[in-house]
Amino acid sequence: MDSLTHAFAVSLPLLALGSVSLIPFAVLGAVIPDIDVVFELMPENNPSDYIFTHGGITHSLAGAAGISIVAFIVIMGLSRLAMVQEKFPLTISSSIFFVILAGAVLHVFLDYLAYPGIPLLYPFSTEKYTAGIFPGPSLFLLVISIILLSLFLLNKAGSTQIRAYMVIFIGFILLSAGMKLYVTLQTNGETVPGLNPARWLIIQEDDSEYIVLEYHLFHGVTNTTVFEKYSNISPEEARTYGTIPEIQRLRYHSYITTVERDTSRIIFRDPLRESGRIMYPRKYANYSVDLSG
Ligand SMILES: [Zn+2]
Repeated sequence: MDSLTHAFAVSLPLLALGSVSLIPFAVLGAVIPDIDVVFELMPENNPSDYIFTHGGITHSLAGAAGISIVAFIVIMGLSRLAMVQEKFPLTISSSIFFVILAGAVLHVFLDYLAYPGIPLLYPFSTEKYTAGIFPGPSLFLLVISIILLSLFLLNKAGSTQIRAYMVIFIGFILLSAGMKLYVTLQTNGETVPGLNPARWLIIQEDDSEYIVLEYHLFHGVTNTTVFEKYSNISPEEARTYGTIPEIQRLRYHSYITTVERDTSRIIFRDPLRESGRIMYPRKYANYSVDLSG
């Protein structure tokens, strides 16, 4: 979800409750989990630090709580500066901390609705969780948020417009969840929505292969591709490479992972991302272990 939509999602209920003075702090909480985009700007980091990525540590419940505490401490510090006191006299209260936290937790929840998912339970697990009703940040929600922001800037956002936004926002989430439920009932396997809301990928798996179906809401299954999980390598041998950080990082970013051995290498890959059938995340779609050296 984009930052503007995150900001509206937490501030409009506060506006409705009349807690206008808390809105800046709620908005702060709603945008700070995405501070992790700075990790993307940094040079190649240590592969075992793969959780330090966009949609990583700050998008876990513990991470969201951690950055909320840091943000609150920074605000407490700033509020003591004479210059700030003069311009923005502020009484520090626990409600400031709780709305920052509410903003951050709501952010994590909204991102949980979309693929590729987030590591909710980190540091207990690096597994990513998603309700899987959106293919990624929703363009539709961004557009209605930009419209509402424009209305605010033009001083034309009254209670009718705000209520309309909330109805469309919640309606869109419910509609997307309903579609997910429909596709899940019609098919067998993990259902991944596409950018075109009528197109879905269905991922089925057994011990030896992944079967990926392209499913269209009106035409049913239109294409089937089978990916062998293990080619020229046994599952046991493939598993011995599971502790290599680069492979853990690949798995973290992947929808499915296959392993194949050729004469000189063992190649781990996510064929869905490698082929562009799933566009995001682009990086770390394969990794080769060199056997020659
Ligand atoms: Zn986010």
